[in-house]
Amino acid sequence: MSKIISYGHQSIDSKDIDAVEKVLRSDWITQGPAVEKFEKSLASFVNTKYCASVSSGTAALHLACLAAGIGPGDEVIVPTLSFVATANCVLYCGAKPVLVDVYENTLTINVEEAEKKINKKTKAIIAVDFAGHPADWNKLKKLAKIYNLILIDDASHALGSSYRSKPIGSIADLTTFSFHPVKTITTGEGGAITTNNKKLHERISRLRHHGIIKSEKSSQQYGEWYYQIDELGYNFRLTDIQAALGLSQLKKIGGFIKQRRALWQKYSSAFKNTTGLELPIEQKGYYCAWHIYPIRIEGNYKRSRKQVFDFLKKAGINVQVHYIPIHLFNLYKNKFGYKQSLRSSSFDELRTAGLKTGGFPVAETYYKNALTLPLFVGLKGKDQDYIIRKVKEALI
Ligand SMILES: *Cc1c(COP(=O)(O)O)cnc(C)c1O
Repeated sequence: MSKIISYGHQSIDSKDIDAVEKVLRSDWITQGPAVEKFEKSLASFVNTKYCASVSSGTAALHLACLAAGIGPGDEVIVPTLSFVATANCVLYCGAKPVLVDVYENTLTINVEEAEKKINKKTKAIIAVDFAGHPADWNKLKKLAKIYNLILIDDASHALGSSYRSKPIGSIADLTTFSFHPVKTITTGEGGAITTNNKKLHERISRLRHHGIIKSEKSSQQYGEWYYQIDELGYNFRLTDIQAALGLSQLKKIGGFIKQRRALWQKYSSAFKNTTGLELPIEQKGYYCAWHIYPIRIEGNYKRSRKQVFDFLKKAGINVQVHYIPIHLFNLYKNKFGYKQSLRSSSFDELRTAGLKTGGFPVAETYYKNALTLPLFVGLKGKDQDYIIRKVKEALI
């Protein structure tokens, strides 16, 4: 085995290349018609009224927070188990990310723990549909209603997933997507925000374009060039080159999701008898467009997680760990005083203590044992067989 199998990879075919080439040969390589076409198509795919494309998933989170009115003095509840961008976007707005633990089965935000952290300053909750498995949106919606909170769904992993037959993208007040090459569809770099709220959508559309406000009325009154700025915006636009790629990718998403689910299924049946290995499971009422395949090595095997990681890397399999819990980063520790919950190997005891103190025992236990196996469109059957064989070899 000389080649390297990465944990995620884009799937680009000649149709994608043709679509990009067509835009490159046209008059509009940015701020042109492809952007709007892509947005309309994405909005329709997730069954929402509005969609604004942006330059990355991180920019999408940033603008979602700004549109939600999050600013200095506010608190936003965020699961500690996510990519750091989920919490950084709160910092960009000058607000405080209040981190909470996740559920053991789905690795999504623990809604009961979240409720304990709500106070007068709490403005929003950002939930993550981890690995493509949706968060418990019914519980989150109930909480949001009681405490008057805005719900933001970081659905970077979950384009194509659904919760009780509702597509992800149509459930929270604001849903953000990422089109980084490892995600379900790609635009190179890119992102989007979907919503059914016209006001929020209009604000996001302005903020991604320097805050520019242009209207028919003011053009007539002052001249065609005229525009006004009321609040500070950014250049977070997606180009037409990227949008053309996104549109072409979106046409194939049905097949992409089918393949991702087939890979998930094959791993799951291959490892179902390996005791002590926790696998990603689709809970009842959820439909997962699996983004990654995170396993938890909890049994007493001949190799530790780190040794399994190194063994597989040596075998040409670029496994990953998703993610280091956010409260363990110095930035967050130093700024907000977050501490590690688990210290010794006496897990069960500390775990109970961690839960009592509102710590993060589940995320930390998960992180200690986690390993992400390759899952992407285009992963060949014989390569998946090889990965399965090598994982078993590493463990038993
Ligand atoms: C990928 C990802 C992001 C960031 O998206 P970018 O497009 O890379 O900026 C944010 N949150 C989660 C959970 C992600 O996986």
